[in-house]
Amino acid sequence: MNYAQLKDWIEASPRTVFFGGAGVSTESGIPDFRSENGIFKALEKYGRSPETLLSRTFFDLRPDVFFEYYRENLLITDVQPNQAHLALAKLEARGKLSAVITQNIDGLHQKAGSRHVLELHGSIRRNYCMKCGKRYGIEKLQQTEGIPRCECGGIIRPDVVLYEENLPMGVFEEAESEVRQADLLIVGGTSLAVYPAAGLLNYFRGSHLVLINKSETPYDSMADLVIHDPIGQVFAGMNI
Ligand code: ZN
Repeated sequence: MNYAQLKDWIEASPRTVFFGGAGVSTESGIPDFRSENGIFKALEKYGRSPETLLSRTFFDLRPDVFFEYYRENLLITDVQPNQAHLALAKLEARGKLSAVITQNIDGLHQKAGSRHVLELHGSIRRNYCMKCGKRYGIEKLQQTEGIPRCECGGIIRPDVVLYEENLPMGVFEEAESEVRQADLLIVGGTSLAVYPAAGLLNYFRGSHLVLINKSETPYDSMADLVIHDPIGQVFAGMNI
């Protein structure tokens, strides 16, 4: 339907940036722990909300429970990039996309071949010792049980942003700068309800803002084009 308009803008734009949220990953089969079902499951099994379980306070207080929940719900690797990830990687390779900004931590954009990925919330693929700083891959968390420990005895934690923690400053500033310089900004798979996602849009000064999300967002009226379809379907439909 409206996909032709979007495709035209992508082809004509001198500088396109994509900004994606959880919806981009759920279409690859990654459950959204912030969804109603995700909240229900956390409350049922742990008696706590995902926001509590993934908070820095709780991590420090009960790392054993944190890692149990984390391994079950966030450490998911048996998934594949979908049509949206693949199309974005192709666009970058063709020089048509300057950056992917993502709130997801699963590394699926890189798996699809994207190189300039700004991960606002970090990545499950990177882990580090809180005591000596030694870095570890994802295997360390997959192959151990309980609280993962470094050789030095320190706790190995994922390089993901927990609730109560700040976003990685350098990454956020780079995202801001990419949005500011973009001519076409495509925002997908996010309801734009959570700070700082919504805040990033305020930096946009380009020609066309496109929102792709299954449900309405508070920014729909600001956009030049709104598509309420699954994002994988939209990118598949454009035949990029
Ligand atoms: Zn260490």
